[in-house]
Amino acid sequence: MHLARFPRRFIAHLPTPLERMDRLTKELGGPEIWIKRDDCTGLSTGGNKTRKLEFLMAEAELQGADMVMTQGAIQSNHARQTAAFAAKMGIDCHILLEDRTGSNDANYNNNGNVLLDHLHGATTEKRPGGVDMHAEMDKVADRLRADGRNVYVIPGGGSNPTGALGYVNCAFEMLAQVNNSGTAIDHIVHATGSAGTQAGLIVGLKAMNAQIPLLGIGVRAPKETQEANVFKLACATADKLGCSGVVQREDVVANTDYVGKGYGIPTESGLEAIRMFAELESILLDPVYSAKGAAGLIDLIRKGHFKKGERVVFLHTGGSAALFGYDAAFNFADRWTAPA
Ligand SMILES: *Cc1c(COP(=O)(O)O)cnc(C)c1O
Repeated sequence: MHLARFPRRFIAHLPTPLERMDRLTKELGGPEIWIKRDDCTGLSTGGNKTRKLEFLMAEAELQGADMVMTQGAIQSNHARQTAAFAAKMGIDCHILLEDRTGSNDANYNNNGNVLLDHLHGATTEKRPGGVDMHAEMDKVADRLRADGRNVYVIPGGGSNPTGALGYVNCAFEMLAQVNNSGTAIDHIVHATGSAGTQAGLIVGLKAMNAQIPLLGIGVRAPKETQEANVFKLACATADKLGCSGVVQREDVVANTDYVGKGYGIPTESGLEAIRMFAELESILLDPVYSAKGAAGLIDLIRKGHFKKGERVVFLHTGGSAALFGYDAAFNFADRWTAPA
């Protein structure tokens, strides 16, 4: 396994910090909780897509692309990081945004990640929820190519074997951090969506024989579908790296009990997690991904799934920019004190 043999455009602020969360640990009274700060990867408010894009954008550059295209939900963190990366490289970015929630909220549709997409110079097109976004991307890419553009198409979430290399590298990075500090870890927990993060991590962890169980907390698909998606991508990523067969089906574990009503729709437990992380640790979660991941972590700790004395790492995948598209999910009327 030799990641330096793959083209990569270095832009992320790495290694991201690995820190203990003392106040959250005390509040929950269970295992020692640590956080891997991939919300601090440095690109336009950070997030996990930056690690994937380092490998994807290098491929785009090698192919001489003058434009990248990708797709996501309206408040897509992936779209925003792609727009920012493209700006830094001096190439155009066009994004298809799927209206998965049907929300008419002005901030949801224009603020948060959407504002940042546009600030970075990207152009956007909307699609109704439920359409085949990959087919839509192919159609638009064909149109742009007919106009003479050299378009590099990045799948939703940057989740293909090239993008997943970024999370193979994250597994190496995290292991080096714990090995160098002597703080052995017992579990890793994170939000899982388009599967590239979990697939890359499990390949890296298994290839190093780290013996750390990895738990993905789902934000959209049912458990069977999510695990199958991650496993398929993990196998393809291992093939790409020349370590086929390193991941077994049972290594891929997703818990999808915290999705709630659906993708992008905030849950009570997710909103509680956002408030707890903000008030106890000054860490910002987002309602779509990291809050649902953290809600799973908190609930599983309360249920005794992780033991006192164990060390659990929550991989923070970013997303805080989406908070500004979701202000309507919060009610802070009680925080205003009447003048004396
Ligand atoms: C995309 C994203 C995820 C999920 O990562 P995948 O690789 O798509 O599974 C988790 N958290 C945040 C904030 C994201 O933007």
